[in-house]
Amino acid sequence: MEAGGLVPDEVVIGVVRDRLAEPDTQQGFLLDGFPRTLAQAERLDAMLAQAGRAVTHVVLIDVPEDELVQRIAGRRSCTECGKLYNVTFDPPREEGVCDACGAPLHQRADDNEETVRNRLAVYRSQTAPLIGYYAEKGVLGEAHGGGKLPDEVFAQVTDILGVV
Ligand SMILES: [Zn+2]
Repeated sequence: MEAGGLVPDEVVIGVVRDRLAEPDTQQGFLLDGFPRTLAQAERLDAMLAQAGRAVTHVVLIDVPEDELVQRIAGRRSCTECGKLYNVTFDPPREEGVCDACGAPLHQRADDNEETVRNRLAVYRSQTAPLIGYYAEKGVLGEAHGGGKLPDEVFAQVTDILGVV
């Protein structure tokens, strides 16, 4: 993860398989950050098919790459209370200090620009093919995240999912 790569398929698939066996997923569930490769998507489909289930909705939140870099490389979190900031879009009143509790802010080691650019290259080669995969299955919905506030993106996502 620190180099911006992905966790191996087998590891991730095992974690998801165990979690989907829990009773609280019977009414439905939402996966965030999985699947990230075609191999993972195919394994997920096979797992669900065995249980008589299927992926019903896939949400693509499209954001221009430069904006993603600014968002991720600018991310800071409070070491005490966990409050999130962004040095460009949502800076604290005093640089490096949490507005809420005064504790120092922290940048995750894998949130630097080089790692983010590498993560985007991995996304393009390994994850972007899922867009076509799910579009073909007729379950893909697209939300536009570029320059949007969280509430505006949230509204698009609930629209796609058909929930309020
Ligand atoms: Zn804090």
